[in-house]
Amino acid sequence: MKYLGLILADQLSSSLASLRALNPQRDVLLMAEVAEEATYVAHHVQKIALLFSAIRHFAEELRRAGWTVIYRPLDAPDNDHSLLDVVRRTLQEQHCSGLMLTRCGEYRLQTAMDNQWSATLGVPVSVFEDDRFICPPADFAHWAAGRKQLRMEYFYRDMRRKTGLLMDGDKPVGGQWNFDADNRAAYKGEVPVPAPLSFSRDAIDAEVLALVSTRFAGPDNRHPGQLQPFRWATTRKQALTALQHFIQHRLAHFGRYQDAMVSHNSLGERADFMFHSLLSPYLNCGLLTPLEVCKAAEAAYYHGQAPLAAVEGFIRQIIGWREYVRGIYWAFMPEYAGRNSQHNERALPWFYWTGKTQMHCMSECFRTTFANAYAHHIQRLMVTGNFALLAGIRPQEICDWYLAVYADAYDWVELPNTLGMMMHADGGLLGSKPYCASGSYIARQSDYCGHCRYNVKTSEQPDSCPFNSLYWHFLIRHRGQFAANPRMAMMYRSYDRMAPAKQQAILARAEHCLIHLETL
Ligand SMILES: Cc1cc2nc3c(=O)[nH]c(=O)nc-3n(C[C@H](O)[C@H](O)[C@H](O)COP(=O)(O)OP(=O)(O)OC[C@H]3O[C@@H](n4cnc5c(N)ncnc54)[C@H](O)[C@@H]3O)c2cc1C
Ligand code: SF4
Repeated sequence: MKYLGLILADQLSSSLASLRALNPQRDVLLMAEVAEEATYVAHHVQKIALLFSAIRHFAEELRRAGWTVIYRPLDAPDNDHSLLDVVRRTLQEQHCSGLMLTRCGEYRLQTAMDNQWSATLGVPVSVFEDDRFICPPADFAHWAAGRKQLRMEYFYRDMRRKTGLLMDGDKPVGGQWNFDADNRAAYKGEVPVPAPLSFSRDAIDAEVLALVSTRFAGPDNRHPGQLQPFRWATTRKQALTALQHFIQHRLAHFGRYQDAMVSHNSLGERADFMFHSLLSPYLNCGLLTPLEVCKAAEAAYYHGQAPLAAVEGFIRQIIGWREYVRGIYWAFMPEYAGRNSQHNERALPWFYWTGKTQMHCMSECFRTTFANAYAHHIQRLMVTGNFALLAGIRPQEICDWYLAVYADAYDWVELPNTLGMMMHADGGLLGSKPYCASGSYIARQSDYCGHCRYNVKTSEQPDSCPFNSLYWHFLIRHRGQFAANPRMAMMYRSYDRMAPAKQQAILARAEHCLIHLETL
């Protein structure tokens, strides 16, 4: 029996489960750039270029390895509109009597594959578990079942035990599971921020960049972001270079400056990426696998290249947070996507798409987002995200924004991070308290406030930082939901100690900000 193997744009790994089951002598692979998939979300133009180029390079790599690959480019005259159409046509043309694929990263598509595809296509459809991830959805569901509260820290310890990463027998290396207390300093220029890596471009990149610039970029298009400078790796070899670059130049300082935000380094150059790895787009599309990335970081610790706190912090993000949010996604979809536990009804301000606001922290995060299809975790969580939380934006609207603007955005990882971690709209399933903060947090962790028209030190004046009054307004309007949370009790006590006139002035300033949100 001859099979068709469908490889999706986020499955660019030669170790993929379905590839291991298929036979290069007998079977045929299908890779397609489908208009429907590229446009149903208005993806950042760099994300489209990264994926189209990476998938074209991967098809070449598979051909060199002896596979027969049917490749359907977007600009082919006979390009099919939908993924199902292209699969149907290729099954017929190639006389295949079965379809094999690996579980995809989106509930909508996976459910259609599981429930409809076999009947619609008239062939058996075999779906393999995506074992590039460390925790299969069924194992997560088993772990979560019967627990009153899900907490990432306990899940993470299980992942450390399962992978053996930074383990000394059954004990964590260094005697602690988590070294966060050593991390999270503000950045004062102590260590130079390394320049970002760029790659030379080949004919495939050039072709794709030209295609994206005519089809998706430009003022008349609804796809956000700038196409240039396009710095992303588009091959496995380049992604491995990016990994090595991170290990050599950034990992040692990763943990310490993980939460720091600065616009420029001490030489006045842009420092948007700080000491972050920029590896999420490669992990999420399959150019790198989570385990190999973690093992490279672990080896750096054993070779004395990076301290334990940095390496543990980095590994925790990948085998902890990344696996945890994926587990939540598959365990609670599709109902999860509709959650709105604070009943937010405010529309997303238009400046999220234009980047034009007087709040300097926000405009800096928008600038790096549109220029690079990237903002680091704290910019996403504590600036643009924090603002949406405090202002009470409709979760589904802010989720659409995060899914559109980042090169690493895929439903399974974007949704729990935005709706759960950032908006706390899942009612506390993912995190025990909302990540709400006033402007003082941003002032402490960044160099933004010194360049802002607003005053971060006050809350009730006409020029006061909007984050300050909105922070108190958020706490007060959700008092019923959060006052009993022991991790938030101190904030309520601080508010209650304020003079009533001050409380009123703060809330009045917050109301003014909410009415004039678009012009802040
Ligand atoms: C509102 C919001 C939306 C987000 N949307 C996405 C998304 O669509 N795709 C995505 O990959 N990450 C998302 N994240 C998580 C995190 O911000 C990014 O993974 C990280 O910024 C990617 O940059 P980096 O590779 O330089 O990460 P680093 O800071 O270098 O971290 C290392 C790796 O850890 C993993 N990681 C760290 N935190 C998380 C997390 N919370 N969830 C999942 N993986 C994590 C990533 O794979 C990342 O590459 C989101 C976070 C927030 C707050
Ligand atoms: S003052 Fe407020 S709005 Fe301005 S940069 Fe600081 S935190 Fe952002």
